[in-house]
Amino acid sequence: MAITDKIYVKNHRQLASQMETNFPKGAFSGATLDLLFQGENLAKLDDTTQDRILDFAQDFMDCDCEGAPHCGCPQRKFISYLLELREGGLGPQAIVDVMGDDYMVYAYPGDVRSFLDDSIRRLEAIETLADVDGQQAAREAAHQARKDLS
Ligand SMILES: [Zn+2]
Repeated sequence: MAITDKIYVKNHRQLASQMETNFPKGAFSGATLDLLFQGENLAKLDDTTQDRILDFAQDFMDCDCEGAPHCGCPQRKFISYLLELREGGLGPQAIVDVMGDDYMVYAYPGDVRSFLDDSIRRLEAIETLADVDGQQAAREAAHQARKDLS
């Protein structure tokens, strides 16, 4: 399962009841993205909550793909966001705290840790392959990215 399948909407039950609709707890579930994309019922939420949801929509769902929001862009953008937080020196718990403040979503720190470990392992594999292939620039890029995440 991708890390984006393990990102959940905070206060999910309360939000669903305020919006008088039901949607999955997963922030990147198709039905949740649809709900955010349509923007209906958002007016029933308090201002702070609305702001966070609009920020989420703006930051991760702003592509022009025909299949949006089911095009994979929201997930890709959120993963970049996680990696940027890591590059900024945050650990798994701090990353969870920040995503909560920014977008009212949460994850389990252990899942974030596994995701970061996987990312580092993937970069190591790219580094090794590029090295074998003699692709110096790709090797350097992967090496630098790995150092930034470690
Ligand atoms: Zn897209």
